[in-house]
Amino acid sequence: MSRQIEDFMKQIIQKNPGETEFHQAVHEVVESIMPFLGKNPNYVKARILERIVEPERVVMFRVPWMDDKGDIHVNRGYRIEMNSAIGPYKGGLRFHPTVNLGILKFLAFEQVFKNSLTTLPMGGGKGGSDFDPKGKSDDEVMKFCQSFMTELSRHIGPNTDVPAGDIGVGGREIGYLFGQYKRLRNEFTGVLTGKGINWGGSLIRPEATGYGCVYFAEEMLKTRGESMKGKVCTISGSGNVAQYTAEKLIDLGAKPVTLSDSQGYIHDREGIDGKKLAFVKELKEVKRGRIKEYAKEFDCDYFSAKDGKWPWEVKCDMAFPSATQNEIRANDARGLIKNGCISVAEGANMPTMPEAVKVFQEAKILFGPGKAANAGGVAVSGLEMSQNSERLSWTREEVDSRLHDIMTKIHEKCVKYGKEGKYIDYVKGANTAGFVKVADAMLEQGLV
Ligand code: NDP
Repeated sequence: MSRQIEDFMKQIIQKNPGETEFHQAVHEVVESIMPFLGKNPNYVKARILERIVEPERVVMFRVPWMDDKGDIHVNRGYRIEMNSAIGPYKGGLRFHPTVNLGILKFLAFEQVFKNSLTTLPMGGGKGGSDFDPKGKSDDEVMKFCQSFMTELSRHIGPNTDVPAGDIGVGGREIGYLFGQYKRLRNEFTGVLTGKGINWGGSLIRPEATGYGCVYFAEEMLKTRGESMKGKVCTISGSGNVAQYTAEKLIDLGAKPVTLSDSQGYIHDREGIDGKKLAFVKELKEVKRGRIKEYAKEFDCDYFSAKDGKWPWEVKCDMAFPSATQNEIRANDARGLIKNGCISVAEGANMPTMPEAVKVFQEAKILFGPGKAANAGGVAVSGLEMSQNSERLSWTREEVDSRLHDIMTKIHEKCVKYGKEGKYIDYVKGANTAGFVKVADAMLEQGLV
């Protein structure tokens, strides 16, 4: 690590103690943009790096709620308003027991660069709670969402901060959150994205992150004269991103063979097809069951997470980590390479640990970091905001074609800033391209 990066990271760690995921995310960005900063001293003089790592605002609040038995619970709510240089804060809400300040700051930080890459006018933010929707009744989830929004509503608005979903926050939760906002403010506005299709939502929003990730992977493959047809693909997760990644892969003639949840993964050697995927959607969105049930239904292998099992041990051509942060370790990365994997596209945020990223880069395989590869979700959220502003709804085809176009443009930007001879360093490309737009806006807006 160069002296400059080391000194910078020392300050970050000192100022943000214990926030390991945030340190990790900042380190990755700083390491990859340092050479660019060396050639552009105007950013250094204006201390853009020091300013961009400091959230503009952090809100942390109590969320009390009552369960079906009448017992009272208290969770902690957060909203990190990271950067508004190029538009209102924008980023999802995560409800998961592991949520803490450091995780949300890492996600908000990543979001700033990701949103910048989409070409749309959106700043970066993220929020959520350590509430676990698993095992709760619909009523309990509603009561929690209402309590959460009662405080959050003071800080957000269609021109200020527009949250969306993330882990544990899907259509059901967005509905309850939106209902409470509308009730408190007496306003029907596009304050959240991922809304239901009959009340301001956009077609293709549920599909956007997964579809976008596959479009991005397809662009990466094209640089090596390859196509999706017949490619064996491993996917982790079985939630929103994983489901629609599988759907688009099937569409394009590839063969997804794994899905997972926090308890284990299934390996279906024959491939997950449309019918099997419909079963997964029903299992996860309606029955709220476990992926293990897929193995029973379709008679395939199941491996328990208790034994530290992730789908990365399965032989594949392409991998799509779509569950959570730090799910691919260096050993997994080495295993993937040994098994002939040629591409990893991150549907999740920061699923690959730094040592594993290095393994992919050294092997010179195609590695699309989340900031670029999973930006399709927030891109269509941006399109949902545009539709809400003009009070119109675009067709499925129109939104999908815009999504495709945005993913292609993101890929082009990564190539522009990440090309090193024949190799494309997508990490460097995404970080630098994302940084430049935000940094320039910050320079032009003065010291705020
Ligand atoms: P969902 O809640 O719909 O699904 C998450 C999936 O990942 C579930 O299968 C879940 O299993 C699994 N998972 C979550 N945490 C863990 C864990 N600690 N260990 C093992 N498995 C885990 O979330 P999404 O699909 O929306 O999000 C997945 C990832 O994609 C996240 O990193 C998110 O930040 C990122 N992302 C999402 C976007 C979106 O539009 N939704 C946009 C861009 C990025 P279980 O049910 O057992 O918990």
